[in-house]
Amino acid sequence: MKVKRPKCSLCSKEAIVSLPYARLRLCEEHFEEFMKKRVKRVELPKRVVLGLSGGKDSVVAAYLLKKVGLDVVAVTVNAVPNYTKHEADVARRVSEELGILHVEVYPEELYGFNTLHYKYLKRKPCSLCSSIRRHSLDLVAKRLGMRYVATGHNADDIASLALTSLLKQDLDTLRKIAPVEEPYGPFIGRVKPLFWIPERDILAFALSKRLPWIKASCPLYEQGSVFADKVKEFLNGMEEKWPGTKINLIKSILKLSPSNDKERKSDAKACKYCGLPSWEGICSMCKLRNKYKGKLPKLRALEPTYSCKGEGNTFIIGTGWCKVLDIDEKWIRVENLLKKLGLSREVAVAYDDRPLPHDAWIGSWDRLLIFVVPRVSPT
Ligand SMILES: [Zn+2]
Ligand SMILES: [Zn+2]
Repeated sequence: MKVKRPKCSLCSKEAIVSLPYARLRLCEEHFEEFMKKRVKRVELPKRVVLGLSGGKDSVVAAYLLKKVGLDVVAVTVNAVPNYTKHEADVARRVSEELGILHVEVYPEELYGFNTLHYKYLKRKPCSLCSSIRRHSLDLVAKRLGMRYVATGHNADDIASLALTSLLKQDLDTLRKIAPVEEPYGPFIGRVKPLFWIPERDILAFALSKRLPWIKASCPLYEQGSVFADKVKEFLNGMEEKWPGTKINLIKSILKLSPSNDKERKSDAKACKYCGLPSWEGICSMCKLRNKYKGKLPKLRALEPTYSCKGEGNTFIIGTGWCKVLDIDEKWIRVENLLKKLGLSREVAVAYDDRPLPHDAWIGSWDRLLIFVVPRVSPT
């Protein structure tokens, strides 16, 4: 396959990515500069505990936080045995390569249960899993004397959360949307370094840096709410036609709802067991642990499912899908090809592990990998 790459908007090198919302095409070097600048738009503390699942968002967050000079401790929570084991392997490797301290948490040891026990605890699996992850990350931060936990939420996550809460009149969630939530009383602060970066750019960046990442499908995953999926679909359609829609939505929400965390949190007390926030002196996780101590069976781990395998070191693409094409076509622009295939711009196209900008010309080719951003389905 031959590829005619357009030039970088800032220098004479070949572009590896196009960013329609910023009207830029960038080479590898300038793309990294751009990503670092976006991360620095968030007011970052000097030290953070980063939730490193091994998925592309958290891996890219680890890379960028390290590059902008933060003191990072990566934490992987093995919330679902076996499924999270593969992710933890990747997280360990990434931390080693970046020279970051990596801590693994085994919830059975901390709490006496993991996500597999959801039925015994009368909880939904995804909600139990997120409680376990959140509490574990906060606990590690507390024990290390760190005041902030960073997570890999990206601009797409934020935009769809914002619109969903608007449409559902969930003003509490809406008010909490911010790149940084300051620590307060027993509360550990929250930072979202990828707050201003769309998912597609994160995927392209992971590809361009050849970062290893993994996304298997959780064996316990419940189909997400139809409502939230529709919102995401709608936003993707808008973004494709009017690049910048998602970022504009986030900007508007931030202007409309100054965070009033402090008022909301003032009643919380430190849990007498773990020191994290609670309403009655014992937090919900410590309550669960005390209630079920010694009463839960050991459960057999479930195997994760992989919906698609890719190539190179981006070896598994999970909840999204990819396509290997064999089309006899002369020269065609990537964006026209995507249109032909009924795919939106919210995909990363890669050849030989390298991202292709959407305005690149491709021709006389036989194998092309199209990485579809997880949860975005063909239109
Ligand atoms: Zn350049
Ligand atoms: Zn507690």
